[in-house]
Amino acid sequence: MKRIPAMLLSAVLAVSSLTAFPAGTIGHDVTFSHFPSNVNGGEPIRGVDISSIIAIEEAGVKFHNDTDYKEDDIFRVLAESGVNYIRVRVWNDPNDRSGHSYGGGHNDVKTAAEIGRRAAKYGMKLLVDFHYSDFWADPEKQRVPKAWEGKSRADKGSAIYFFTLDALKEIRDAGGDIGMVQVGNETNCVMCGENDMYEICQMMIAGCNAVGDFDPSILKVLHFADPSSGHYPWYAKVLNECKVNYDVFATSYYPYWHGTTDNLRNVMKQIGDTYHKYVMVAETAYPYTNDDGDHFGNVVAEGSKDATFRYPISVEGQANCLTDVFQAMADCGDKGIGVFYWEPAWLGVPEISWEQERDLWDRHGSGWATKYAAEYDKDAKESGGSSYDNQGLFNFWGYPNESLHVFGNIYPQTKKQFPTEPTTLPPTEPPTEPPKPRREMSDLIRLQKHLHRLPVDDRDRLRLCDMDGDGVLDIYDLGLMKRELWLERSDRGEKR
Ligand code: CA
Repeated sequence: MKRIPAMLLSAVLAVSSLTAFPAGTIGHDVTFSHFPSNVNGGEPIRGVDISSIIAIEEAGVKFHNDTDYKEDDIFRVLAESGVNYIRVRVWNDPNDRSGHSYGGGHNDVKTAAEIGRRAAKYGMKLLVDFHYSDFWADPEKQRVPKAWEGKSRADKGSAIYFFTLDALKEIRDAGGDIGMVQVGNETNCVMCGENDMYEICQMMIAGCNAVGDFDPSILKVLHFADPSSGHYPWYAKVLNECKVNYDVFATSYYPYWHGTTDNLRNVMKQIGDTYHKYVMVAETAYPYTNDDGDHFGNVVAEGSKDATFRYPISVEGQANCLTDVFQAMADCGDKGIGVFYWEPAWLGVPEISWEQERDLWDRHGSGWATKYAAEYDKDAKESGGSSYDNQGLFNFWGYPNESLHVFGNIYPQTKKQFPTEPTTLPPTEPPTEPPKPRREMSDLIRLQKHLHRLPVDDRDRLRLCDMDGDGVLDIYDLGLMKRELWLERSDRGEKR
């Protein structure tokens, strides 16, 4: 960690400025004026997909709240920021034939059940996202699960029905509060190894039937990618022709690839109104920095080919973008039901080497793929990390970006009470040195107030918090990310 003496602090602040907690001062309120009272208790869905979270925690990533900056359960941090729904992907069997995980969060049914349990503890419902594959399913790849290879289309439908039913039972038995189920992921005319949309509809019906038989109150979601493709009206028309019994037409909307929010609203509203379906954004994300935190390249940054950035790449740009995505859904009348942000906490362990990161990806499955995934996924040529860590709603050190508080600006909402008992965090490695004494919170708050009085012209540049939990305030520069700056207690002349 790079540290600077306090005497340099004034010089640092002269060239940069300070973002101070508490958050909640960027973005603006969005009200879903016609929200259906029978969906999610009458509250818009303010969701995040944190499918990788168990593997990330096992790899050693820590998360913190932004009230006292202490390490905290990320589920609590999310819930207290206004998140009310968690989305989790499910792969059938993400292991090679020797039992090694493919990685990517190792999202089998057991992992989904654990995420559902932890979400329910803080009053958050669960969207279970079935890929019907053993690894990533998206428009580029929808490989059939190994165990289903060679099955006829009819047999695949039957397999989907029973797999869905069994998985939902396991997740509910573990304590998950399932509110929605997604039958297929980004199924742009490809699903479970099939590429005929009319055949795919039959598999979707099988999945929707399983959901309805399990619990008719659960919303059945279908999911496509890219509302700017021009294909959505045709998908919706075929689903209608085939009488697929779904409730929600959902989209991935990555703003730098998938057109404007005006187009998003227009396309989704038309489908919602024409076919009497709810509509929502099941995945969205936007970068807040061009830097990378885990030695694994990111999918987008300034200058990326085929990416259009309509907002600044900053925390404020990220917050405004997410706000506009919520607004687009709020503008879909009584059909728009909400938004999920994709993998806002998919981080590596900060400040370790690429070799150390790679070891964590392979041991814990915390990156997008382990070296064992190559047998199933042709793109998995070697182990890899997170290509979305610069789009997190948490920074590389696991502290919330101010943009996380956009969820608290979405209405209508009711105030929920969360458990107050101490949170049991997953076991971590024992410390290699004795913990340092913590400073009193009053000192921390006083210092923060002192800094808050300094000029603020670029709110996103600097952030003040105790990053490493040693009771000493750290200042870090969001624009540079890899530089960490240390604030000494200059008022008492303490030096390190
Ligand atoms: Ca990365």
